[in-house]
Amino acid sequence: MAQGEIETLIGLLAKLPGLGPRSARRAALHLLKKRETLMQPLARALEQTADSVCVCSRCGNLDTADPCAICLDPRRDVSTICVVEEVGDLWAMERSAGYRGLYHVLGGRLSALDGIGPDELRIAGLVTRATDEPVKEVIIATSATVDGQTTAHYLQDRLVDANVTMTRLAHGVPVGGELDFLDDGTIMAALNARRAV
Ligand SMILES: [Zn+2]
Repeated sequence: MAQGEIETLIGLLAKLPGLGPRSARRAALHLLKKRETLMQPLARALEQTADSVCVCSRCGNLDTADPCAICLDPRRDVSTICVVEEVGDLWAMERSAGYRGLYHVLGGRLSALDGIGPDELRIAGLVTRATDEPVKEVIIATSATVDGQTTAHYLQDRLVDANVTMTRLAHGVPVGGELDFLDDGTIMAALNARRAV
């Protein structure tokens, strides 16, 4: 049975999403075996990132500088803002590499059940940006959940005076996805977003 610092390490690793106590022990053992090639570089990266991470005051992205690298990138199209719920959604959009505009991270979605109202999200900042910046289109990419849809409708109401075109991501069938493996919500959303061919 692990003792002292190692036990503490396992306890902390077990708090990471996707890692339970069992996989935390495996990860800890792997780190201990790769002390110089993995554990020490990881420790340095964690410390440096923890010291410098901040929230972009313009778009809500997480980065080590404010404004973030995306906001400052002169190659990005400043006439388009894609509104997402979380930084993880921004990362997913960036991975797809098809989008070259700016972002706005809400920090969640409206939820009556969880007591998340408009003031808990970065909505006022979005309205200001859509009004004051040279924005032509706001792409609302909130999730296809009920709360995500509610948030999208709320944003449409709030942005109605901002003189921007508002669009929604078509939530649909993933490329190569078989309908059988999709949940009902995804199929319904894909059906509702259907286009003439
Ligand atoms: Zn930013």
